[in-house]
Amino acid sequence: MLFKDIIGQQGVKERLIRSIREGRISHAQLFLGPAGSGSLALALAYAQYISCKNKEEHDSCGHCSSCIKYNKLIHPDLHFVYPVALSKAVRVSTDVAADWREAFLGNPYITLFNWFEHLDAENKQAVIGVDESAEILRKLSLTTYESEFKIMIIWQADKMNLQAANKLLKILEEPPDKTLFLLVCESEDQLLRTILSRTQLIKIPKIQDAELIKALTERNGLSPQEAESTAHLADGSYAEALMLINENENAAQNLLSFQKLMRASLKFDPKTVMSWIDEMSAMGRERQKNFIKYGLHIMRESLMLNYADQSLVKLGGIEEEFVTKFSPFIHANNAERFIDELNKAYQHMERNANPKILFMDLAIKFNELLNLPKPI
Ligand SMILES: [Zn+2]
Repeated sequence: MLFKDIIGQQGVKERLIRSIREGRISHAQLFLGPAGSGSLALALAYAQYISCKNKEEHDSCGHCSSCIKYNKLIHPDLHFVYPVALSKAVRVSTDVAADWREAFLGNPYITLFNWFEHLDAENKQAVIGVDESAEILRKLSLTTYESEFKIMIIWQADKMNLQAANKLLKILEEPPDKTLFLLVCESEDQLLRTILSRTQLIKIPKIQDAELIKALTERNGLSPQEAESTAHLADGSYAEALMLINENENAAQNLLSFQKLMRASLKFDPKTVMSWIDEMSAMGRERQKNFIKYGLHIMRESLMLNYADQSLVKLGGIEEEFVTKFSPFIHANNAERFIDELNKAYQHMERNANPKILFMDLAIKFNELLNLPKPI
């Protein structure tokens, strides 16, 4: 991770670089910043700069033997600890190290939510368990291979359970030589006071709006207007901005899929139905569930448009255009069953139903429901 790839945070970057140049490297530091501010990325860029064999004035070189390993998160003197969903097979961070590398390299602004989504463990508890402290000691007992320092980055340090935190405290009280602990977290409230008092605090602010807008236009190809409204909603969090972009893309894709399903079901054209089912089956399960939820949203908005105060319909753009044309097909004789079928489909999807069978079933039911006569 290079400093230049981190959005904004110029003040923090300069402070970190200066401390290294002046040889003031504290053995335990706490990178404290809100989600999406880049605190983890900054801790990693800091570690990489310390280890870089060819430091430039304002950044790591990016291509020495140390940087190359850092770029892939495989440097033997770089260690990570992060929360996991504890199970028989997963006790410590190392057990899901490959997932971690993939998730972080895919998004250095990763949030705890993103991480657990990546692990397919959204509903599980995120913990740094007691076994982790023994693992930390084991890693620290390894010889330093290639760098002056062994560096241990503990992400979401406040997710340590009490036993793990107490053991870490003992290590921080008598730190092994040439070892750096970089704790990263969003809030200090849950962190042991005694740990706090043993770390040097690096406060990381939210990303400034202007910096965020610049990143969204340059990195994500948003128009200046889109970037501005997204940055406004994201409130200084690049992670939040990425989620918003993703939601918008999903909504546009969902609308297209929904239109296709309705057109294919109305007259039940087998060729179009089959091609729609193939497209849907190729998606991941979360996206399929997301589509069904979207279908429910369109049904609700259509009912609202038909029967309730139209000012309650809060749509815009192509979605509003579609719902205006589609809503006459939803009426008292079929509305309840549409919603019921979508809810059932969602439950079946959660129980790992076969998507091809499920979507075929949905198309057949929708063919029947769309062709029910309106009440007179
Ligand atoms: Zn380098």
